[in-house]
Amino acid sequence: MKKLGEIFGLGWALLSLAIASAAQEPKALPLPDERYKADILLVVAHPDDEGAATPYLARALDEHKRIAVVFGTRGSSGANEAGAEQAAALGVIREIEARNALTSLGITNVWFLGGKDTASQNVLQSLANWDHGVSLEQLVRLVRLTRPEVMLTFLPGTFIGEDHGDHQASGLLATEAFDMAGDPASFPEQLAGPTKRLEPFLENLRPWQSKKIYYFPDADRKDIFREKGPDYSVKEISKSSKQPYWRVALDSFRAHQTQAKSFLDKIAQMDEAQIEKMATSDDAWTEALHFVLGKSLVGGSLTADVFDGVTPGAIPFARSDVAPEPARPDLSVELGGPWSFYSEFRRAHALASLPHPEPPEIALQVPGTLVIPLWVRNRTAKTQEITVSAVLPAGWTAESGTGKFTVGAKQVAAARIEVNLPALVENNAKKPEPQEISVHAESRAQSIGEIKLRVELRKRALPQ
Ligand SMILES: [Zn+2]
Repeated sequence: MKKLGEIFGLGWALLSLAIASAAQEPKALPLPDERYKADILLVVAHPDDEGAATPYLARALDEHKRIAVVFGTRGSSGANEAGAEQAAALGVIREIEARNALTSLGITNVWFLGGKDTASQNVLQSLANWDHGVSLEQLVRLVRLTRPEVMLTFLPGTFIGEDHGDHQASGLLATEAFDMAGDPASFPEQLAGPTKRLEPFLENLRPWQSKKIYYFPDADRKDIFREKGPDYSVKEISKSSKQPYWRVALDSFRAHQTQAKSFLDKIAQMDEAQIEKMATSDDAWTEALHFVLGKSLVGGSLTADVFDGVTPGAIPFARSDVAPEPARPDLSVELGGPWSFYSEFRRAHALASLPHPEPPEIALQVPGTLVIPLWVRNRTAKTQEITVSAVLPAGWTAESGTGKFTVGAKQVAAARIEVNLPALVENNAKKPEPQEISVHAESRAQSIGEIKLRVELRKRALPQ
């Protein structure tokens, strides 16, 4: 019996000629998956943090913007108002609550980094607990996948306010990813394509340079952020739902049962008029949203709409100009910890104009302790003796870290002053005012540094 190929041999030859000429037609090369393309990428820390932007997201959706969201953690710390589950079990519930809150708006491209929910004001602790490098790699991957025009995130800085280290970490990672995702030299394995069939490791993503990054601060004091970016009223009526944007945000918030069941149960008992009365008497629901422009690579006005100056299509990668290191005297003392980190961070990411409080500030729970971290720099060729003293309000005492110290030649040493803080004096008529403290350092009777810090004492605050 003849084989099929022998019978049709001639036919096959003619057919392959026909295929060869058809191949002259250009064939489309594979492109990124359009289902994941975003106009806005929101990067926040915890389930329910999206609430800081939901009225704006609802507005952007009315304008047919595509939105993707990344959460740094699953929010596994804290109390559970809806059930007995705690810790990691609570985290897997909160992931679903966050997805449901966003799905109610129409947002389904949602990812979670593996960060651990960390209750502190210190961004460095959050970064350590988030496996900074692993989280950053994943966030850069997600920026390259979603190719956002604009990134929106918490302001990386430390303030009197909630000042959550995780919020800061989400803004810090988003800033790093904004600067790295377009860089072909950053995480290049994400950009390499498979060279062999079934090559299972290389990702075949493309670099993506986002055009703008905007921040929202979790600080109490708003004055330093004014006129630094656009405002959006939340009282305007949504074109699609015919409700004010704050009301759309409240409906979306209903998903967060483990965080706010008692509040949500109350809302469920209210009629529309009562809901409106509740919301309009609470700034948290009806205050305008204010964003701070971090950077724009496409121009546009500072206070205009987020998409001012943004036009479709890729822009070239822009490497941030690193500002020069500040000049320091041969012997100097400066504030350390997150404070010195943030001044380096702003310098490294071309964020010199990013608002930050001067003098630096913090709110702390009392009774308790304030730790003032210091860097002592000696660039001279000799060991130097320095004297550190602190000027404190009445009732505050320096527990340790003041007095005489030496620092070796050409060395940078870490020092810390611990201050015992007094109990709060109750005075309901007056909101507590931050108090200014100062640290002085001298060597051979000459001042080598003076550090000021504003400290507000509170009944409740996250640990320093
Ligand atoms: Zn949060």
